[in-house]
Parts: sequence; structure tokens; C-alpha cells
Amino acid sequence: MTTLANRINYLAESETLAMSRKCRELKAEGKDVINLSLGEPDFNTPDYIKNAAKEAIDKNFTFYTPVPGYEDLRKAICTKLSRDNNLEYSPAQIVVSTGAKQSIANVVLSLVNPGDEVLIPSPYWVSYKEIIKVAEGKAVFIPAKIENEFKVKPEQIEAAISPKSKLMIFSSPCNPTGSVYSKEELEGIAKVLAKHPGIFIIADEIYEHINFIGKHQSIAQFDYIRDRVIIVNGVSKAFAMTGWRIGYIAASVEIAKACDKLQGQFTSGTCSIAQKAALVAEITPPDTKEMIEMQKAFRERRDLMLQMLAEIPGLKVNHPDGAFYIFPDISYYFGKSSDSVKINDATDLCDYILNTVFVALVPGNAFGDPNCIRFSYATSKEKLVEAVGRIKEALGKLK
Ligand code: PMP
Ligand code: GLU
Repeated sequence: MTTLANRINYLAESETLAMSRKCRELKAEGKDVINLSLGEPDFNTPDYIKNAAKEAIDKNFTFYTPVPGYEDLRKAICTKLSRDNNLEYSPAQIVVSTGAKQSIANVVLSLVNPGDEVLIPSPYWVSYKEIIKVAEGKAVFIPAKIENEFKVKPEQIEAAISPKSKLMIFSSPCNPTGSVYSKEELEGIAKVLAKHPGIFIIADEIYEHINFIGKHQSIAQFDYIRDRVIIVNGVSKAFAMTGWRIGYIAASVEIAKACDKLQGQFTSGTCSIAQKAALVAEITPPDTKEMIEMQKAFRERRDLMLQMLAEIPGLKVNHPDGAFYIFPDISYYFGKSSDSVKINDATDLCDYILNTVFVALVPGNAFGDPNCIRFSYATSKEKLVEAVGRIKEALGKLK
């Protein structure tokens, strides 16, 4: 007999956050841990954004906020969508939430009935599956292979659709693979979804500005499915604002109203001060010197990681075009042993690396591919060189 509700007993702890917790514990024991597990930029929030928050406090923006966010912030998001994505939305179609994670939860809980199927191209971001569980939906995974840069083909989506399909959810640039869908690839997917008017699409675009191959492409650009697309975005990644907790959706008025209603009962409008900072982040064109420096650093780190990982025997390495993750296949090491441990799977390998050389990574099973591990390279080149050096040494000891 347990006191807790089934929903919480069945819910898995977020493995990305669990790995960061393990890291903090090892650090507290005095261990020299390098954390490549958490998807969090190592940069400080740019000053022009921080100044807006300081001003908001001085101007007493300290009261409850409207549930879907301040009107001026929602207008600024509409300006951003028009300027950067050529998409026209009105403030009534925008709901600002406590991080993109809450935005996703709002949409899933607003759309998914128990037993509804949710299509998830796999590998996928860790929280999608668990949020769907809370809504009592059924996740239907569509596996993508490393040979295809972890991108699904339209015919795979077509084959996974059933009369119970209600929603599809994917990220591009993708967490955990860094893959970026091209306009043509998105169009192929849009054409399949056009034939199924009962299916909604969450386009998680939180890594929009961390894209090494040119302009971001949104699946919302295809008008024939646009009213069923829910864009999820936010300030956490591109503006180095993970702790500020601001995410948003752009959707049909019906879905925006549903999310507003849900949020009004769960959390209310998000932090007033963070909203004023986010307004400046969104209204400023994304070519400030701070943004360009961060984007340049991520690209250089990606190149460095590709170069270093290519030198480790047995790894099959994907080629990320965005975000700050790389997701190599490490199954070559399964079945091998060190003096003390046998490596059966990616979790064993991550534990071995963490316990012997103190580098934290996340096993691919958290993201739907048990042959891979995720490296987050959102840290300095010096730390990356040190971390990969340690990993190479640890892997070299496995026979
Ligand atoms: N979607 C993806 C793909 C992510 O990697 C993250 C990272 N946390 C989120 C959503 C949630 O972002 P936020 O910090 O704004 O909640
Ligand atoms: N999205 C980041 C990651 O995947 C942050 C952690 C989280 O929110 O789960 O590591």
C-alpha cells in the first residue's frame, strides 16, 4: 500500500535533472566533476536583459500578472514571430508560462484525453514522455536512425498514425541529437499531417537561435496546418536565462484560451520581473554582440567535440547542426569490462565514467535510444578537452 497517487508512482524522475543532482552531490564530497549532463548554457544573462529586470523591480512590477503574461510581452513575442519567422500572430494567441516545460505540459493537458495517442519521433526530449503519462495519453515512438541524422521520414509518420492519434511532438533543433529539420523535410511531414485534420503538432523551437546551418525553419510556415501547430519557445537557451523561467506558446486562440484556463488554476501568470526581462530579450533583434558571441562559441565547441570524439575508438558520432548536444552511439563498449565493472548498457557506461573519471553524461535510454549517450557541450573548451580526455582514458581501460 502506498500513500501516493498512481500518477506520481508511475512518473519517472527527470534523468537530466537526476544526473545534475548526482553531480552536485559528488561536488559536495569534494570530487572534481565535469558536468556535461545538463542542457544549460554556461554564459551569464546579457546585461541589457538584466538591466530590464532591475528596472522592473524599481518600477514596482511586483504584483500578480495577467495569467497569459503581460500584454506588452505578448505583443513583443508577436513582433519576434513576425520579424524572425515571418509568422503573424496576435497577443490573444500567445500564452507565457513558467518555462517552456510548463508550456508543453499546458498544451498536452489541454489536448490529450486518456488513451489518446501522441506521436513522438525518437530520440526525443526526456520530459515529453512523462508529461504524456500524466495526461494518461499513450506515447507512440517513431524511431529515427543515426544514419539518417536521427530524423524521421514522412512515411514513418504516416505509418504510425491511427484513429487515436491526437498530437505529435518534436523539437528542431533537437534535444538530444542536435539535428535540424530543413524546410523540405518539414514540408514532407506537414503534407502527411495535412491529411489528418484531427492531429495537432507541438513544434518545440526552444533551440531556434542555436542553429549552425542558417535560418530557422518552423513547421508553422505551412498555412494548411498552421491552426493545428503549437509553437513552443522561450528564453532559457538562446539568451542564457534558464533560471528566469519564461517560456511561451503561439497557437490558435482556442488552444491559447485552454492553456490560460489551466494555468490560471495551477500557477497563475509567471514572475513579473522575469517577464519584463524577457520582453527586452524578445523585442531586441537577435543579432546583439552577446547573442552572436554565444552562438559562435557553441559552433566552435561543436566542431571541437566532433574532432575529439572522432579520435575515440568505437564511437559512431552524429553530426549536430544545432542546439548544444551530441549523441554518439557507444554500443561498441557493451559487453566489455574494467577490473571492477561490466558494461551492459548506456546507463552502466555513464555510471562507470562518472564514478571513475567524474564526467557526467546522460544515458540515451532517457531519450529513447539505449545505444547512445548524450553530451551537453554548453561549457568551456578547456573543460570539454579535459572531459573528453578523461572519457577516452576510461574507455581505453575497457576490454
Ligand atoms: N524543450 C526542450 C527540447 C528542452 O531541451 C528544454 C530544456 N529544459 C525545454 C523544452 C524546457 O525549457 P525551459 O527551461 O524553458 O522550461
Ligand atoms: N532541457 C535541459 C536538458 O535536457 C535541462 C534539464 C531539464 O529541464 O530537463 O538537459
